[in-house]
Amino acid sequence: MTRLHNFNAGPAALPLEALERAQRELVEIDGTGMSILEHSHRQPTYGKIHEEAIALLREYLSVPDTHDVLFMQGGARMQFAFVPLNLLHEGRSADYVVTGSWAKYALDEAKLVAARYGAEARLAASTDEGDKVFRRVPDASELSLDPSADYVHLTSNNTLVGTQWQRYPDTGRVPLVADMTSDLGSKAIDWGRVAVAYAGAQKNVGPAGVTVVIARKDLVQGGREDIPKIFRYKAYAADNSLLNTPPVFAIYMLRNTMRALLDWGGLPVIAKECEEKAAMLYEVLDQQPDFFRPHAETASRSRMNVVFRLPSEELEKAFLAEAKAAGLVGLKGHRSVGGVRASIYTAVRKPAVEALVAFMRAFAAKHG
Ligand code: PMP
Repeated sequence: MTRLHNFNAGPAALPLEALERAQRELVEIDGTGMSILEHSHRQPTYGKIHEEAIALLREYLSVPDTHDVLFMQGGARMQFAFVPLNLLHEGRSADYVVTGSWAKYALDEAKLVAARYGAEARLAASTDEGDKVFRRVPDASELSLDPSADYVHLTSNNTLVGTQWQRYPDTGRVPLVADMTSDLGSKAIDWGRVAVAYAGAQKNVGPAGVTVVIARKDLVQGGREDIPKIFRYKAYAADNSLLNTPPVFAIYMLRNTMRALLDWGGLPVIAKECEEKAAMLYEVLDQQPDFFRPHAETASRSRMNVVFRLPSEELEKAFLAEAKAAGLVGLKGHRSVGGVRASIYTAVRKPAVEALVAFMRAFAAKHG
């Protein structure tokens, strides 16, 4: 079998080592006479994997003791509701920065929660150019932040349009909550400045099915209690994410993925690689501005999702078809933007990006 160069936006490429380990262990794990899929989540075989997944994620992301690491279900989208349910208190407000569709969905969910609980979800800034076209994240000067807000929410990487915060805004004493679904695991995080980070795992840190929530313990403990227990971060923290049956196989795969990323050199190596891979692609785009038309403004460019258009839709169709024939897949842009999107998450390694660069140069030479 030939593995393709996979530029899917998520679920996305996983480390081959993580998949091969799962293949070896699928029918029987640790000489136990059964699969990891068949073990009780309350027994030691799974328990060890659960602990290791948390420990490796902590190690990889240098998560300090001030923060809990929680595994949940429901995807990042469920967190759009969980965050205000837990952290937005009666009569108070939270600030939302809207830089793309996911950020807008987060605000919409927060508004529904706020209306129910006598609170407010405020728009602190939007970079919508009209008609839901987003090309950048805002400057600090564009943010109207409320110093007494319960938190500020932003989307660290905007998967559909390919923009990313290069530096998070200084929110002072107001906790910063970030949807890091498409960049958690790709760069170092200053946990002194990030109060809550959440992510569907399916892009940079594992498979679909498990949602990672890394949250400051004081916020977890201070979360609202007038909500059902199953919605409380505090309940997940108290039971070490074993409140109910966790997504055992997804967590097992996250463990395998963390093990692989650490074996590749850990976050410093991966972060540098992510920076270099993005630079390789943007270099090609910038060298032929008449042919390749980057969607994002330069200062907001994403290291994770490189989004561009070509001079015509016919050329875009040809690009995707020829790329596929060359073993480069998952490059179709999101329908809201069109064109091409190359998602270059942690497990998309340099040779894949080199192959894409060579293909792009050849395609431009032929059609440009
Ligand atoms: N936020 C961002 C930034 C995303 O890219 C996505 C998924 N593409 C989501 C949220 C939604 O994630 P999920 O499907 O895990 O709910």
